[in-house]
Amino acid sequence: MSIGLQAIKAPFDQIVGQPTASRFLTASVQTNYRPQAYLFYGPSGSGRSEAAYLLARSLLCSEGGDDDCQDCLRVLRHSHPDLQELSPEGASGYLIGQIHDLSHSAALSPMLANRKVYIIQQADKMSVSFANAFLKLLEEPPPNVVFILICRNLAALLPTVRSRCQLVPFTAIPTEQAIALLVAEQSVPDSLARLALAYSAGSLSAARSFIQSSSLQQQRRTLMSLLRGLSSYDSMDVLEAARQLVICCKLPLDDLRIAQQRQLEENRETLSKAALNDLEQGHKRELTALERASARWLIEGLRSWVRDILLVYCGLPEQVVNYDEIEAIQTGFLPKQPDMLARLMFCLEASNEAEAHLDYNVSVQSIYEYLLFTLREQLTGRP
Ligand SMILES: [Zn+2]
Repeated sequence: MSIGLQAIKAPFDQIVGQPTASRFLTASVQTNYRPQAYLFYGPSGSGRSEAAYLLARSLLCSEGGDDDCQDCLRVLRHSHPDLQELSPEGASGYLIGQIHDLSHSAALSPMLANRKVYIIQQADKMSVSFANAFLKLLEEPPPNVVFILICRNLAALLPTVRSRCQLVPFTAIPTEQAIALLVAEQSVPDSLARLALAYSAGSLSAARSFIQSSSLQQQRRTLMSLLRGLSSYDSMDVLEAARQLVICCKLPLDDLRIAQQRQLEENRETLSKAALNDLEQGHKRELTALERASARWLIEGLRSWVRDILLVYCGLPEQVVNYDEIEAIQTGFLPKQPDMLARLMFCLEASNEAEAHLDYNVSVQSIYEYLLFTLREQLTGRP
């Protein structure tokens, strides 16, 4: 190892619970191995996005990404003009217009760094026509462009796309390890760390956001208070509760709007008018995507509550996630019905179904109405 290599710190050590990915990325930076495209694959919540941003930081920072220079800070705040993150804009996947925008943007020179980085989330949601157009981009890549694809299901990606990427595997972080980490890092009690993970479908980064965001916690409190009242609701109340949940979906948008405003301010001097316009268009899409994700979180929260009723019913209250709701569950939702277990399983199934409907652009209000009416009927025996 040369002196120069020793001087490089190991920014990828920050990737939690992924020794293979961390070792590989450290070695690839140290040896200057720079594939044109990486494919980070593995389950949601395994830290693929955080690793992608760390890699982007090392690619865009003139110091190798291990310090706190302006470039690094911009990457970590997601506001570097040479870094773009793409997510599917259609309800069921990437839109063909998105690949045209990507090809156009990739052909332009970088603004601050000497290369551009694109993080492509949910790469397994590329349609065949999108993937074929993307393949052309990989076959004749514009100079100084690096793609970091992120996906869960490797098999859903075109083999020809897959074979042009450097594969980097991620595995699920064990829940107890993730909880211990959140407790140490965020100085929160074990119970809140467990709750945050449950609300984030096991994703460490989403759990961090949950702990730090008052609006996400407010969203959960509203959801819990609506669910608590469910057993006494008449039909009008259920409709009103569904309406409240739709309003609740918009709560986290305010945080994002503030971050977007800051990004615009930071880049106002360096970006052209057209680039600023693109940025603003991207912001609008981000807001839509967040609203959709937020609708999903609420269903996740609702599911965790049903699971908790199941745990209390089965005599396992110590495993409950919504620890502050145990009393309300015990007093309000455990009628002595012989088929309670089947009813609870039906509710879990209904929440899975409701989540699937979100992918088909069904109105969020009607999905929540369906769910709340189903829950009320199953849990109280009242149609
Ligand atoms: Zn830096």
